[in-house]
Amino acid sequence: MPVIDQIELFHVTVPLPAPFEPAWVPGGARTKTSFYLIHLVTDDGVDGWSAFSASGRERAGIGDSLAGLFLGKDPTDIDMVHERIKIMAVGGIRNWWIEPAFWDIKAKIAGLPLYRLLGGTDDTIRLYLSSGEVRGLSERREEAEARLEEGFGTMKVRVHDWDEEVDIAQIQDIATHMAGRMSIAVDCNQAFRLTQHGDAPLWDLPRAKRFADAAADVGLAWVEEPLFMEWYEAMAELTAYSRVPIAGAELHTAGYPELKYMVEKRCYAVFQPDAMWAGGIRQCMQVAELCRQHGLKFSPHSWGNGIGFIVNAHIMAASGFAGEMPFEFPYCPPGWTIEARDALLEAPWQHDRGSFHMPTAPGLGFTIDQKALSQFGACFFRAKRRESHWMPEALMGVVGTREQKKS
Ligand SMILES: [Mg+2]
Repeated sequence: MPVIDQIELFHVTVPLPAPFEPAWVPGGARTKTSFYLIHLVTDDGVDGWSAFSASGRERAGIGDSLAGLFLGKDPTDIDMVHERIKIMAVGGIRNWWIEPAFWDIKAKIAGLPLYRLLGGTDDTIRLYLSSGEVRGLSERREEAEARLEEGFGTMKVRVHDWDEEVDIAQIQDIATHMAGRMSIAVDCNQAFRLTQHGDAPLWDLPRAKRFADAAADVGLAWVEEPLFMEWYEAMAELTAYSRVPIAGAELHTAGYPELKYMVEKRCYAVFQPDAMWAGGIRQCMQVAELCRQHGLKFSPHSWGNGIGFIVNAHIMAASGFAGEMPFEFPYCPPGWTIEARDALLEAPWQHDRGSFHMPTAPGLGFTIDQKALSQFGACFFRAKRRESHWMPEALMGVVGTREQKKS
C-alpha cells in the first residue's frame, strides 16, 4: 500500500498581462492571479497536485493539519480523504480543493487519465467561451466576433448593472447580433456576493423572472445564478417558471448533501458544481449521477486557474453529459489569457476550434513547470513523515525555515 510521505504547500502569484475586472467582484480590478498549490508525494515517488484561489494568506496555517491527517495514509483511499477533509472543516474552513491531488495519485497508480478511471469515454469535450467581464455593447460584439472566429459555438456573457434595463439591453443586443451564428448564455453572478470592493445589486424573484423572460425571448442557451444561493424556494419557483434553463450551484461548499437537496427540489435545470469548492471530484460525480436520475443537466464550473479547469474537465468527460452540455473555458483577453491562467503548467490547456481534447497522460494529465513555480511561487510548508518545516516567511517574500520535529 502506498502512503503519503511528503506534503508541500505553495503560494503562487502570477501577473496578468492587463487588468482584469471580474463581473463577480464589482469595483475590483485584478493585476495578478493568486492561488495555493498542494503537492503530495508517496513513498514510491508518485505525486499529485491541486490548486485553489487565494485572496490573501488565509490558508497559511493549514499545513500542520494536513500533515497530521494525511502523512502515512493511503492516498488511494478517497473515503478516508473525504472523512479527513470534513475533520479539517470542523475548524471552519472547507478544503475540498486538496481532494483532486489524491485522485491525481490514484489515477497515476492505475496508469489511466482520471476521467477514464472514473469510467468516462468522452475523449473530446465541447467548450463554451466563458467571458469574465461586464462590457459595453460594441466591445461585447467585438469579443463575440473574435471568439466565433476562433471556433467557439457558445459564449457566456456577464451582466451586473444596478439598472435591469441595462442588463436586458446587453443580452438583447448580443443575442440579436450573433443570431444564427453563435449561441449566447448569461451569468448574473447573483448566487454569492463579493462586495468587498464595491456594492452590487441583489436581484429578487420578480427581477429574475423579468430577466428570464427577456432571455427566453432572444433564445439564450441558459441563465446562470440569477438568485442568491440560499434562496432554494425562489430558485425552484424560477426554474419551474422560466422558458430558458436556469443554471448554477458552483460554490456550494457543503457539497453533496446540500446539492442533493437542491437537485431533488429542482432549484436549477443545469447543475454546475465546481469540485474545488463543492465536495471534490467524488461528490461532483455523485451530483452528476443524481442529475441524470432526475432528468436534469450537468456541466461543472471551472473558472480559476488551469488546475481547476482540468480537474473539472475530467468530471465533465466522465459525467456522460459532454454530448449534451458544453464545458466552461475561462478566457477573457486582454487580462485573463490562457498563458496567465495556466502559467504553472508546462503545456497550457488550448482549445481546438472550441473543443478540448482530454489529456492522455495518467492522472490529471499535466506537468508543473518547475521554472515557473520557482519564479511565481513560494513554498511555505513542507512536511515528511518524520519532520515538518513551517515557512511563514515565504509568504512574506523571504524564504526561511523553522524545523518542528515530530515525535
Ligand atoms: Mg458562474
